[in-house]
Amino acid sequence: MVSELRIDRVLAPNPGPFTLTGTNTWIASFGKEAIVIDPGPRLADHEAAIVRGLEERRPSGILVTHNHEDHAPLANPLARQFEIPAYGHAPGPDFEPDLTLVEGDRLPLGEKELLVLATPGHSDDHLCFQIDQVLFSGDHIMGGSSVMVEDLARYLASLRRLRPLGLERIYPGHGPEIDHPDEVIDWYVAHRLQREREILAALEAGATSVAEIVEIIYREVDPSLHSLAAVSVAAHLRKLEEAGPG
Ligand SMILES: [Zn+2]
Repeated sequence: MVSELRIDRVLAPNPGPFTLTGTNTWIASFGKEAIVIDPGPRLADHEAAIVRGLEERRPSGILVTHNHEDHAPLANPLARQFEIPAYGHAPGPDFEPDLTLVEGDRLPLGEKELLVLATPGHSDDHLCFQIDQVLFSGDHIMGGSSVMVEDLARYLASLRRLRPLGLERIYPGHGPEIDHPDEVIDWYVAHRLQREREILAALEAGATSVAEIVEIIYREVDPSLHSLAAVSVAAHLRKLEEAGPG
């Protein structure tokens, strides 16, 4: 049998308004070699499910897209269990990378290679991982939802850099796989620019605070998400101030 890239999802039992159905932990493997991407929250059941999901394959590394609590905390315990490195861009409250990844780094996976892309915006430390035309997007792009953005100018640049890659599939940190990446990338860019126009309109209508802008433009969004929306609105305002619209 010819070996090929295999990708399995282990869904963490942490559903919620911020995490959709829960965190997607991805196992990417080639033959018996595997890596685990975004092991997720530190839950014993989830850790056991990842170990079961690996079957006879042995992981060579645990990779973290970014330091949010629904992605990173299980990385160090899982890496210790297999005596392999945990990889990420920067330390965080629940994560200490054994090895640091930066833009352009490459990790072998059987006959394949995993390429590290720096994609700041959702968070400063955010990475995506590319194997062939497949991208593991963390929270840079989610399945069926927009994302919270901390730094909008960098986020838009991190989205636009994906477009020329000719991606065929995205495996996001939350939600279902994405089979038409370019359409979704274009939608994400258009959505942020649409929000920017709405924010400019809210300012013109007399809104004077982030909270007032959120009240106006996110009125159709579940109020439990308004605190996240406020982070994105603040990021929009900083970008408008520093770089202007567009
Ligand atoms: Zn996140």
